[in-house]
Amino acid sequence: MRQVIIIGSGPAGYTAAIYAARANLNPLVVASSVEAGGELMNTTEVENFPGFPEAIMGPDLMAKMQEQAERFGAEVLYDDVVSLDIDGPVKKVTLGSGATHEADSLVFATGSAPRKIGIEGESRLSGRGVSYCATCDGFFFRERVIAVVGGGDSAMEEATFLTKFASKVYIIHRRDELRASKIMQERAFKNEKIEFVWNSAVVDILGDEAVTGVVLEDTVDGSRRELALDGVFVAIGNDPRTHLVHDKLRLTPEGTVWVDGRSSHTSVPGVFAAGDVIDPTYRQAVTAAGSGTVAALDVEHYLAGLGEAGAPDPAGAEIDGLADAATLGR
Ligand code: NAP
Repeated sequence: MRQVIIIGSGPAGYTAAIYAARANLNPLVVASSVEAGGELMNTTEVENFPGFPEAIMGPDLMAKMQEQAERFGAEVLYDDVVSLDIDGPVKKVTLGSGATHEADSLVFATGSAPRKIGIEGESRLSGRGVSYCATCDGFFFRERVIAVVGGGDSAMEEATFLTKFASKVYIIHRRDELRASKIMQERAFKNEKIEFVWNSAVVDILGDEAVTGVVLEDTVDGSRRELALDGVFVAIGNDPRTHLVHDKLRLTPEGTVWVDGRSSHTSVPGVFAAGDVIDPTYRQAVTAAGSGTVAALDVEHYLAGLGEAGAPDPAGAEIDGLADAATLGR
């Protein structure tokens, strides 16, 4: 039996692994079979992670984090968790391979998944011109006309990146003001291949075998029009990945895993959570990494408590007494 299993291999999971490994807790990291490395694997240049003044590519940063965790003894498994049994003192993790692993504690750091618009053509044409990852699929749109949906940093970043391939990139946003940071906005405004389509919602994606266009609805006057396109990149934010625990751990009204104050203690003793899965607000690589640190330190403390007297988790006991813990925030 392990002392700790970490589920997730983004900045939160790997930072928790680095700290846990350096504390001689011999962590097992379940890194996922296809999404190992998390959201930064779909990112190009990361310019705001301290220590990399010249920027670093997202996948390179994740490779370095993994290398650092393994250097101190973390074991990384490329498999997916299919079910969790976390009620008792022994936490059981069942993987897609059928293997079961047990531990005294768990760090849940599953991050978030790209949000979908939720219209019919979107799922039908996914992989046939509809994409959620510019770095993965941009190459297929050389000299094509495409659109990015969204007004946040992701949409600006993806659109700017896609101008390397596409002949034209529309940014379709439902308001007339962007949510993105000023530096990302300015970069997109300056790019001659980018044209903004304001106050517009994508209500249908057209095409039989592949995307041929979208139907836009004006969010001010409700009028509709078609826009011819070869591809649509959806970049409208992310939702926390909680499907493994939605009936096991307390969630917040925003849908993230609830944790006690600034700690990583969830509503179940011995289960800790970190990164985007607990964060409805900041969701940065560096805040996720900090959150992974908190989780590893909380695990260390929890295991030390178990070692001393088989004592119950003090935060867990506290949580049981809360009338409405979700309202306390993080
Ligand atoms: P976000 O900041 O939540 O922005 C989502 C955008 O999509 C918003 O403009 C939103 O419109 C729009 N949107 C949401 N739901 C929609 C829907 N159903 N239909 C149409 N549009 C919809 O998400 P994000 O851009 O993925 O960024 C997430 C976090 O990661 C942010 O904290 C961001 O700063 C960070 N990030 C940072 C970088 C970087 O620093 N290099 C790069 C990428 C992401 P409204 O504005 O109208 O709400």
